[in-house]
Amino acid sequence: MHCLECHAEGRGSNAVGVCHTCGAAVRAQHVRTVTRSVRHGSHIGTPGEHQERTPRCPVRAEAHSPAVAERTR
Ligand SMILES: [Zn+2]
Ligand SMILES: [Zn+2]
Repeated sequence: MHCLECHAEGRGSNAVGVCHTCGAAVRAQHVRTVTRSVRHGSHIGTPGEHQERTPRCPVRAEAHSPAVAERTR
């Protein structure tokens, strides 16, 4: 899979991840990783928490942000 950002610029590079929101493939230099805490566990067991990384492409990372989206045209 090739990086979508690089592909748009006429270059080819292997992607390391896929944008969580739009599905675009992105390479390490272009990926924006959002780290969030995710809680696990049932009502019975002891709840756990771990950091979950969500890769996003640079363009969409901003566009997908609600705060930024309101400012976009
Ligand atoms: Zn790229
Ligand atoms: Zn994206």
